Amino acid sequence: MNEPFTDHYSILPGRELGRGKFAVVRKCVEKRTGREYAAKFMRKRRKGQDCRSEIVHEVAVLELARASERVVNLHQVYEMASEMVLVLEFAAGGEIYFQCVAERGEEEAFSETEVKRLMRQILEGVEFLHRNNVVHLDLKPQNILLTRDAPVGDIKIVDFGLSRMVNSHKELREIMGTPEYVAPEILNYEPISTATDMWSIGVLAYVMLTGVSPFLGDNKQETFLNISQLNVSYTEDELLHLDRAALAFMQALLRKKPQERATAEQCLRHPWLQQIQEEAGQPSASAAAAPELQEAASASSALLHSSPEESPAAREENEDVEDEEEEEEVHEELMVMAAYTLHGQCRHTTTTTTSSSEKEVLAAAVAAAAATGQQQKAVSKRFKFEEPFIGGLQEILPTGEFIC
Ligand code: ADP
Ligand code: MG
Repeated sequence: MNEPFTDHYSILPGRELGRGKFAVVRKCVEKRTGREYAAKFMRKRRKGQDCRSEIVHEVAVLELARASERVVNLHQVYEMASEMVLVLEFAAGGEIYFQCVAERGEEEAFSETEVKRLMRQILEGVEFLHRNNVVHLDLKPQNILLTRDAPVGDIKIVDFGLSRMVNSHKELREIMGTPEYVAPEILNYEPISTATDMWSIGVLAYVMLTGVSPFLGDNKQETFLNISQLNVSYTEDELLHLDRAALAFMQALLRKKPQERATAEQCLRHPWLQQIQEEAGQPSASAAAAPELQEAASASSALLHSSPEESPAAREENEDVEDEEEEEEVHEELMVMAAYTLHGQCRHTTTTTTSSSEKEVLAAAVAAAAATGQQQKAVSKRFKFEEPFIGGLQEILPTGEFIC
């Protein structure tokens, strides 16, 4: 197959579903079937570096997670000269972010019963990922979507751009994530594991239940400090009416030592999540057979469509990029790429790995914040839209480039 994306899909004008630093997501319609999809356009060159292998890694993880209905389904992949398009199942309900930020008591805000049902689904997806040695590393309301918003649908986990494999013998210590959701071990440059995601689930539960971001400070340093000091309150007004089991659930996750945190599997058995009738009788997504990584990787070859063409959306998107792109035509088999990606760790370059001197600078930033008396709880804990941590760190360490 060597046909351009636009031969097969119409992009719905003006309808941008989301936008990150290097990606834009648009709603589109498959011409043949009339079905709606979300197309994630991703530039292959970012800040002058070739990031194709990172996109391929994201594709490979999505392909691996095909067996879980809690992870967004990848329909097809197109490759153009300077970008790739991931054609994803369309999650019509959008991000759970909007219900999270709504004031409690407002109609849009989740009820505790709803949070329980959705949290269970999130955990089913995360349990599947962890069972397959994938850590997401960017679990937050913007990356948890709903199939519909009213009545509230089911969960779809998206955005595997920061995800990593944890089965290699190498220890994984990279700085990444989104400040409010980042676990203490990341700040301390200690090994990353599946427990790192479980911390973020604890933060997510807190936010979904209260609309309050438990560690958010006035600036990133203050947020990091709140996290490293485990400065979290379980006596906020928003928590008082909750089931006590809900507090115990969060406390089982917001623990400094990763090995003390509950696993996704344990969370699914937690008393707080036991009284849900909704899914009675339905097989859970996590019960689906977990494929071997290689099988998943090899299956993905069917998805890729290469094309030297560039979509109009991409042209628009790439206008401001120093695009010294050669007219490359890429026709590789995804099978090969996926195998490569899944067996190694992505982003091996020196620019993406945090050195111990960088760690010291971060530690110094945290220590400095402590010394200036910022150790008290953040004043405003209402949500704000945060970029992943990689951006935040660049602010602290202007010379450091963590991700291309
Ligand atoms: P980034 O890596 O730039 O954060 P994401 O994959 O998180 O990219 O997508 C950015 C945003 O686009 C999401 O937060 C969401 O609002 C929207 N989005 C992504 N995938 C879908 C989808 N399948 N259906 C609907 N909206 C989506
Ligand atoms: Mg995202």
